Amino acid sequence: MFNSLTRQLEEFQPVHPGIPGVPGKEPEARVYSCGPTVYNYPHIGNMRAYVFADILGRTLSFKGYKLTHVINITDVGHLTDDADDGEDKMEKMARTAAKSIWDIAQHYTQAYWEDIKALNIRQPARWTIATEYVPQMIAFAEKIADKHCYELDSGLYFDVSTVADYGRLARAQTEDGEGRIEAVEGKRNAADFAIWRKTPRGEKRQMEWDSPWGKGAPGWHLECSVMSSEVLGFPFDIHTGGIDHREIHHPNEIAQNQAFCCGDKASGGLDLPANSGARVWMHNNFLVERSGKMSKSSGEFLRLQLLIDKGYHPLAYRMMCLQAHYRSELEFSWEGLGAALTRLKRMLIAIGQLKDRAGEGAVQAGPRFAPFLERFDASVSDDLNTAIALTVFEEVLALKKVDPAEKLAVLAEMDGVLGLGVLALEREDLRIKPKGIDIGQSEIEVVLEARKAARANKDFARSDALRDELATNGVDVMDGDPLGWEWKLA
Ligand code: AMP
Ligand code: ZN
Repeated sequence: MFNSLTRQLEEFQPVHPGIPGVPGKEPEARVYSCGPTVYNYPHIGNMRAYVFADILGRTLSFKGYKLTHVINITDVGHLTDDADDGEDKMEKMARTAAKSIWDIAQHYTQAYWEDIKALNIRQPARWTIATEYVPQMIAFAEKIADKHCYELDSGLYFDVSTVADYGRLARAQTEDGEGRIEAVEGKRNAADFAIWRKTPRGEKRQMEWDSPWGKGAPGWHLECSVMSSEVLGFPFDIHTGGIDHREIHHPNEIAQNQAFCCGDKASGGLDLPANSGARVWMHNNFLVERSGKMSKSSGEFLRLQLLIDKGYHPLAYRMMCLQAHYRSELEFSWEGLGAALTRLKRMLIAIGQLKDRAGEGAVQAGPRFAPFLERFDASVSDDLNTAIALTVFEEVLALKKVDPAEKLAVLAEMDGVLGLGVLALEREDLRIKPKGIDIGQSEIEVVLEARKAARANKDFARSDALRDELATNGVDVMDGDPLGWEWKLA
């Protein structure tokens, strides 16, 4: 896997190797993924980050590791700017919507979980909610405060010059990293960041806690250091996030982790990467729109629900993600999504035929499939090359003169990693009625049947009239579509 910390491909070496081959003592893989800030709906770019983390987790499971995956929910502390500028995103949204922060957090967490489910992203072992870890955050901050922090009127700040090699992950220096605008007076270094933000005198925040530095709220970077170490223990194996986190959020987490681990001289003190908290840091590249960066702060944005409203099954988006390498930028387009949906449909047609031919009961795949499974394994093991893995899956699907039940067993094993759920899906499941179409699904079927009958009777005038009737309802009839789409949104 590609470790952003070293900018190199590295063989995965688990922190807890266990005893391979002994049941119950499997090698472990402990993974932490930065989760969403729940002040708004996630856009599909955000969801790419979790599809990536899911593929990573599924691959580790496939390779025999006992996976412990943690994703956090940030419901406090993330400012409108990733560095120290701006105000808390949650406070801002709550004010705009005239709701309590708790209501905002609950609503958008639920929406996020719905997207997680729709994309077949497996549930992590634990969702950690930031506001439930505030006492631990204060304890963490107290431990590093004396040697690494200083207090200003606005909060407790981390002095980045107190740790070795600050900013190595971003390949940035203390003074010239991205977003290093000195927004706060009195900071020792431009890159110093707040780990505790005091509530300004005379103000009251919706979310605030008592601390040795006064009433206030934890800094966003502190949250992830604390939740990851609390649940997974330092060091753990892999920390993931989108590529934007490589620049500020993760370097700051790493600095805190170094400070936290440095008490133990035997472990190398402030050294990096020894005490960066996680051994491997992995980052997915962005989903972009032709017009530029995707953002959820601006009015209209691409949510998974929008795709569904337009008649695209959510797993078409998962397919779109799998077709690209996670470290490459992926450009979103409706044509691209349509092509991904078509590919998924082709798979389902072939699998449907297999299911018809295969008998009941569990089967073991014969030796003929071994080279395919080996190539599949090699491709996902090669820094999660899902694009190649998909083609191997399709090669197996296309194999002639093999037992259909054996073939299905192999496909099921591969789909355990790809997570498209193709063995449980039916072709009809992919057909989603777009929003804004008044006509019901069964009505469409009735009209289509009538039209089929008219054509069989060579009554083309009636057939055309029925077609026009559907068209006025926004439904395009798709004659002669090789994949058998009967209709789509006009
Ligand atoms: P946020 O809720 O803003 O903290 O973002 C949640 C996750 O989505 C983080 O891991 C981000 O790095 C990631 N992310 C944000 N925008 C995109 C994008 N356009 N494409 C892929 N990942 C993104
Ligand atoms: Zn984080």
